[in-house]
Parts: sequence; C-alpha cells; structure tokens
Amino acid sequence: MKENSCIFCKLANGEIPSATIYEDEDFRCFLDLNPASRGHALLVPKEHFANLFEMDREHLERAMVLAQRIGAHMKEKLGCDGLNLVQNNGEAAGQTVFHFHLHLIPRYQGDGVGVSWKPGSLTDEAKEELTALLSLGGTLE
Ligand code: 5GP
Ligand code: ZN
Repeated sequence: MKENSCIFCKLANGEIPSATIYEDEDFRCFLDLNPASRGHALLVPKEHFANLFEMDREHLERAMVLAQRIGAHMKEKLGCDGLNLVQNNGEAAGQTVFHFHLHLIPRYQGDGVGVSWKPGSLTDEAKEELTALLSLGGTLE
C-alpha cells in the first residue's frame, strides 16, 4: 500500500524521479539527496512501512540480501574501503522520513564521516540489570 502524503512512496514508485541505481518489483535504491559520502544511497521498499517494526518478514529478508549485493557492487565500482548500513527508527533515533529506508554509506579510509557515538562504559550494575531485563528465553521465529 502507498500513502499519498509520503515522499518515499512517490520516489520508490517512480512518481517522482530519483537517481536510481537499482530497481525491482518491490524495492528501489537511489542516491541520497544529502549524501554523507560519495555514493550514499537509500534502499526503499515500494510498499509503505513506517519503520522496521512495521515491515513484514519477506521485505526484511529481501532488504538485507539487497544490501549485501548493492554494497558489494559499490565496493567494486567506487573502491570504497568499507560500508555502513544505517537504519533509523523513530524521531529519537534520527528518523526524518517515516517510510522504512536503509542507508548504504560507502566509507573511505580517513573520510571523517560521523556515523559514530561516544562510547560509554557498562557498569556491573547495568550489566546485571539489563541482562535480566532483556534476556530472551528461547529461539526467536
Ligand atoms: P533518516 O534521517 O530518516 O534516516 O534519513 C532520511 C534521508 O532521506 C536523509 O539522508 C535525506 O537526505 C534523504 N532524503 C530526504 N528527502 C529526500 C528526497 O527527496 N530525495 C532523496 N534522494 N533523498 C532524500
Ligand atoms: Zn511511504
């Protein structure tokens, strides 16, 4: 399903032109308008999902396969030294467009691109509390 007010629905479905580097029946990958690095692209499903938690399994699995394939292609063509996959969910996490998208950010040695955070330290107390809180008993489906 598409949402009329969603810009990524329009871009993914070709209603607004984009600098597309890959397209299939369900996804489009196009260059980010404000790239963090040379070749920064967005992988976007044609169907509207606001974020990771709304996306179905089939799209999730396909997105990761495509990220691997497109990422390998970027490494070959751009000669990048690494690749960041970034995927923001929710305003607090930096999401500004509320249609699922996966950033593919080619990285070059010493490029200074800031996909990073200030490392904290895990105290014994937090370790105990969070392990108890977050432990998942069993295998996830
Ligand atoms: P977010 O912060 O939601 O994870 O990332 C949104 C990304 O979409 C940003 O990197 C921004 O530059 C990109 N973006 C927003 N609007 C457009 C657009 O109209 N066209 C393209 N190609 N990229 C866009
Ligand atoms: Zn949308």
